[in-house]
Amino acid sequence: MSTRPTSSPVNRSTFDQFMMPTYAPGAVIPVRGSGSRVWDQADKEYIDLAGGIAVTALGHAHPDLVRALTEQAGKLWHLSNVLTNEPALQLARKLCELTFAEKVFFANSGAEANEAAFKLARRYAWEHFGPEKNELIAFENAFHGRTLFTVAVGGQAKYMEGFGPAPQGISHARYNDLASLEAKISDRTCAVVVEPLQGEGGVTPAEKSFLQGVRELCDRHNALMVFDEVQTGVGRTGYLYAYQYYGVTPDILTSAKGLGGGFPVGAMLTTSAIGQSFSVGSHGSTYGGNPLACAVAGAVLDIVAQPEVLAGVAQRHGLLRNGLQEIGQRYGIFSEVRGLGLLLGGAVTERWQGDAKAFMTAAMEEGVLTLVAGGNVVRFAPSLIIPEADLNEGLARFERAAAKVAGQA
Ligand SMILES: *Cc1c(COP(=O)(O)O)cnc(C)c1O
Repeated sequence: MSTRPTSSPVNRSTFDQFMMPTYAPGAVIPVRGSGSRVWDQADKEYIDLAGGIAVTALGHAHPDLVRALTEQAGKLWHLSNVLTNEPALQLARKLCELTFAEKVFFANSGAEANEAAFKLARRYAWEHFGPEKNELIAFENAFHGRTLFTVAVGGQAKYMEGFGPAPQGISHARYNDLASLEAKISDRTCAVVVEPLQGEGGVTPAEKSFLQGVRELCDRHNALMVFDEVQTGVGRTGYLYAYQYYGVTPDILTSAKGLGGGFPVGAMLTTSAIGQSFSVGSHGSTYGGNPLACAVAGAVLDIVAQPEVLAGVAQRHGLLRNGLQEIGQRYGIFSEVRGLGLLLGGAVTERWQGDAKAFMTAAMEEGVLTLVAGGNVVRFAPSLIIPEADLNEGLARFERAAAKVAGQA
């Protein structure tokens, strides 16, 4: 400890010295970005096909977002929910106009939006059907966040390891397997929670008939259907929300990641009737609805909701998917390229089972940022407005990485 903090340069080893070991960040430190390109401390350029894990929906330093943020920064940063504010009201109204929702609750992250959704589902069932109706059903391999409740609802046991006892009344059915849900659902079920496309779980889209079936089972048992659209929302699939692609409307929907385009914000959307089950004091957040976050999110929605922008996602989907399929075949690295819109995953072949990260690491060295989803899928989630030239250059760099990794095989 010293009385005066140092301001000398930092590097990757500073991470190991001062930050909790919850992550294993790459070897370089990006310092600035513009559109779909970022530059590290050594001024090396990268094409960004990762989008900060499906967050920077409009790339880096989009002028409209910079303007929204800096204009709001000069006016008013924070009030708390003791008072409301104009950007929050405008954002809530936009979200309701653009979706099935009639009421919005703001949070600061995906996990918090889900926490609010799960609490609301229990509260609604408690109020209308009594305390026995409290069971939540989610799906194996699901990801809903890292708070204790959301991790327990998520379908990956390893994330609960050492954190027990877990919240009770949670069970898991198999994804895209309606019979498995049918066997578990009952009149004690208060909600079924589902990602329309499992992102972290391996970029696995739901089948339309599956989501339709989940909807029917929920209706039959008076259970709420909760869509976790934290990763799939805000244009990611080529629709503002993926439920609009599937034609299946949930009772509660959560949004975060792309919503702020890089500024932390989360939202839970629902109907007036369900929203009634929260009253003054039953849930809250100091920062939820913060004016800076809401001003930026409002600017994000103004752009992403434009039909041309959503159509552009579908067009880029074709380019990225074809490019990845070709590379996958040429080097024998992908058994399948799957996903919706600009959320795509290359499932690695037998040879690289458990080792998808090798491609991400090699890609970074070649100057392109990618992601993984578990050990077997290389994931891509670029800006929704990535220029075609950047997409092609990113694919060319990824091909060099694939050649390198495959050459070592
Ligand atoms: C990322 C993610 C979350 C968690 O969001 P945080 O902002 O990290 O809390 C929840 N659900 C899904 C589907 C996600 O992809």
